Amino acid sequence: MLEIRNLHVKLEEEDKQILKGVDLSIKAGEVHAIMGPNGSGKSTLSYVLSGRDGYEVTEGSATLEGEELLEMEPEERAAAGLFLAFQYPVEIPGVGNMTFLRTALNAQRKLRGEDEISAGDFLKLVREKAKTLKIDAEMLKRPVNVGFSGGEKKRNEILQMAMLEPKMCVLDETDSGLDVDAMKLVAEGVNALRSEGRSFLVITHYQRLLDHIKPDVVHIMANGRIIKTGGPELALEVENNGYANLLAEEN
Ligand code: ADP
Ligand code: MG
Ligand code: MG
Repeated sequence: MLEIRNLHVKLEEEDKQILKGVDLSIKAGEVHAIMGPNGSGKSTLSYVLSGRDGYEVTEGSATLEGEELLEMEPEERAAAGLFLAFQYPVEIPGVGNMTFLRTALNAQRKLRGEDEISAGDFLKLVREKAKTLKIDAEMLKRPVNVGFSGGEKKRNEILQMAMLEPKMCVLDETDSGLDVDAMKLVAEGVNALRSEGRSFLVITHYQRLLDHIKPDVVHIMANGRIIKTGGPELALEVENNGYANLLAEEN
């Protein structure tokens, strides 16, 4: 599904190398977690995958089902099946949630050369997804994220993910100070959307999230590289011992 090879990234504005050779291979249906100390480059990895400005790839590649993502525009990446959920969802006053979802869905369909979804089919789809995710219909009518609580924003993010039916979902939950309830919402959403053809990369600073989302593979990132890869037990090791041992092992 997602294949990252020897990815090197620096800041565009400064001569600062942030990712120093990241390798990551995620198969269809797998859930991977990346953990690591603050400042290790986890968010940078998700930004670079999303195509955010300000970062320069100096070496390496990232392909989604064999297609090079790094050469695509952000919206092309989405149309190819990539979804990125970020720590701070944007508020869009004046734009209803339904309108936003329909616009996003149609933009994606257009890039794929598909017809727009009809108003009736859209309504049916959004109600069905909202029901599956236990999202109140009232939330669909409100402006995007405006006045939403932290938990509602998380729910909404999961709804966006459900509507766009991505193949590869990247969630950066680092430093977001998710409370236990919001964490459970994210986990429930991810678990509801897990499927054979869909993969997840969950980035988190804390082990707690992984109590609710059982990852197949756990990676530890430090200083711009993946320094260790293992099973869920690796997350427990971090919980019990912190990162110090792993960092010492690496040196
Ligand atoms: P993490 O998500 O693992 O905490 P980040 O990817 O946010 O790590 O940051 C990695 C390093 O890159 C940090 O030292 C951070 O300060 C630096 N960095 C990332 N983006 C920028 C930026 N736009 N400007 C300056 N420094 C940045
Ligand atoms: Mg950070
Ligand atoms: Mg981060």
